[in-house]
Amino acid sequence: MTLDRQRSIATTAEVSGFGLFGGIDCRLVFHPAEEGSGIAFRRVDLPHSRPVPATAEFVARVPRRTALSDGHSTIETVEHVMAALAGLCIDNCLVELDAPEAPIGDGSALPFVEALLVAGIVEQSAEVEAFRPASPFSVEGNGGQTIEANGDPEYRVRYSLDYGPGSPIPKQSACVAVRPETFLREIAGARTFVLASEIEGLRAMGYGRRATTENLLVFHDGGIEDNSLRWPDECARHKLLDAIGDLALCGGRLTGHFHATRSGHHLNHEMARRLTTFPNSSRQTLRRAA
Ligand SMILES: [Zn+2]
Repeated sequence: MTLDRQRSIATTAEVSGFGLFGGIDCRLVFHPAEEGSGIAFRRVDLPHSRPVPATAEFVARVPRRTALSDGHSTIETVEHVMAALAGLCIDNCLVELDAPEAPIGDGSALPFVEALLVAGIVEQSAEVEAFRPASPFSVEGNGGQTIEANGDPEYRVRYSLDYGPGSPIPKQSACVAVRPETFLREIAGARTFVLASEIEGLRAMGYGRRATTENLLVFHDGGIEDNSLRWPDECARHKLLDAIGDLALCGGRLTGHFHATRSGHHLNHEMARRLTTFPNSSRQTLRRAA
C-alpha cells in the first residue's frame, strides 16, 4: 500500500442508523473532497450551517464521546467515523449528517469502513505531510491517565486498560501499527462497551434510550449480556479505536508511537492539540515505501 499521496473517496457513501446517546435517526453521507481540504462535518438539517473542521480547535467538551462545534452546528459522537477515515488513511472528506449525532451501528467503526471501501479510495496528487512528535513527550490526566508519544517513523498506537481489581473487564493491552490492512483486520470491528453498573446513571442523564446489546457490549460480574466478544481484548481494541479517531483531530496523518494508559476522549484531544503546536511536533512528508 502506498501512503504518500493524499487520499479521498471516489464517490459518496452512506450510513444510516441512530445515535447512541441521543437516540435520533441519522443519515450520514461521506463525500469526496479536494486535496488539502482535510476532514469536515456539516449538519444539513440546520439552516446556514458551514462545514466544521475535524480538528482539536473545534472540540466541544462533553462526557464520554467526542463532539465538534463551531457555535452554530454541533456534531456528536464523531470518534468512530474519524477512526474509520484515519484507519483507511483518507485525508480529505466532507461528512454530512441530518441529525446532531452520528449513527452508532454495531458500536464499532465497521459500518463506516465498509461504506468507505464500497465508495472506493482514490489517490490524489498532493503529498502527505504527517505530524510527528519532535521528541518524546507525554500528556497526563488527573487520575493517573497518560499518553506517551515518541517520534518513531511508523504510526503505532498501544492502549493499556485497567479498571482495577474486581472489575468485570480484566486488565488488558492492545497495540496496532495504524495502516489500512491492520486497522481493518485488528481494530475496526471492536465495539463500544459499558459496565452494567453505569447504565442507570447514563439513562438518568437521558442517554442510550434506543441502545441494545446489539450496539453496546454490557459487562456485568457474570460476563457479557446477550452477546459475545470478537476478541478477548476487544475492550482495549475499542479504546485504541477511539484513540485513533481522537488523535486524528490533530488535522492530518501521524507518525510516531503513542502509548495510551487508561486515557479517555478528553486526554486524547489534549494529545491531538499538543501535536499541532510547536515544540511538541514537526511536519514531515511521508515517503512511498519501497
Ligand atoms: Zn468508542
